[in-house]
Amino acid sequence: MRRTASAQLCLGHLSANLARVRVAAPGRRIMAVIKAEAYGHGLLQVAECLAPQVDALAVSCLDEASALREAGYRQPVLALQGFKDERDLHSAAQLGVAVTVHEDSQLRRLATTRLQRPVQVWLKLDTGMGRLGFAPSRATELMAALTANTNVAAVTGLMTHLACADTPHRPENATQLARFQAATRHLPGERSLANSAAILALPNTHADWVRPGIMLYGGSPLADQSAAALGLHPVMTLTTRLIGIHTLMPGEAVGYGATWRSERPSRVGVAAIGYADGYPRHAPSGTPVLVRGQRVPLIGRVSMDMITVDLTDLETVQVGDQVTLWGQGLPVDEVAMAAGTISYDLLCRVHDRVRVTTGPMS
Ligand SMILES: *Cc1c(COP(=O)(O)O)cnc(C)c1O
Repeated sequence: MRRTASAQLCLGHLSANLARVRVAAPGRRIMAVIKAEAYGHGLLQVAECLAPQVDALAVSCLDEASALREAGYRQPVLALQGFKDERDLHSAAQLGVAVTVHEDSQLRRLATTRLQRPVQVWLKLDTGMGRLGFAPSRATELMAALTANTNVAAVTGLMTHLACADTPHRPENATQLARFQAATRHLPGERSLANSAAILALPNTHADWVRPGIMLYGGSPLADQSAAALGLHPVMTLTTRLIGIHTLMPGEAVGYGATWRSERPSRVGVAAIGYADGYPRHAPSGTPVLVRGQRVPLIGRVSMDMITVDLTDLETVQVGDQVTLWGQGLPVDEVAMAAGTISYDLLCRVHDRVRVTTGPMS
């Protein structure tokens, strides 16, 4: 039997979501974030659609950058995690990929390596995320050191990343913005702070470049607003089919651990998708699933290759019917919420095993 689970990509929605970025941040340059296989959608499929429409592509590491170059993309690319050793640095130079500099060991590496051609760098400051980046107080000193380094073609930009943009009213956002502005006030170069949440909710962070990720794929970046309310459309629809239907007497159980028991005569559908396909194993009974476009609850534990759903309230349903796990008709954010996670996590896990196809929605 062929694998039944598949992820259909609607590239029209991808372009529509990009248009939403332009409406929210008019005139700003756009660096489309396509790390992690374009959030599980497939790096090259997404690059094909977005590359001609944006100013740059952002990936996390040089392997991803190299895959883009090998596929023939010549657009500006930034490796967000930069380089970690000399080999990475040489490959960034060779690929013509910009790298983030966020760490003293990278400065030492830049000082001791002889590159055949210089690399473009983005200087990253940590203004409160507590992850990658230099202390803002060092910005001027670092800028001078990088500019003087013959391995550095240019410090193309200065960037920072916001920790709380998904909850725009939190004071941390203003604090990070103020720190960034204070540290970079007298420095040349372009500025970038905004991820999807900031693009939609924190216009004073838009600066020169915005860096949309999740919103391009149609997930809501804001904790308290749905994607639909924000004008975003799902790019991936994850579907499979029913491969079995059976009835249960009251009191009979379903799945590993017998965690769900019927309270009435019930009809149970078995759908061919499980945690090995990226469906979240922790999705509890009650997580919404669509069967023939109608909502039914997941019941019992998610298995490796199968899930079970309660079909009792559906009128007509048969083996072979389409099951939608998320996407068109069922927001991924809702499923993520039910499973105690976020859309990013669900989407990223899909790519490896599931067939990804592009084209109009069926
Ligand atoms: C992943 C990432 C983004 C995109 O974030 P979204 O919340 O998906 O929009 C932007 N900037 C950096 C540095 C990132 O790592």
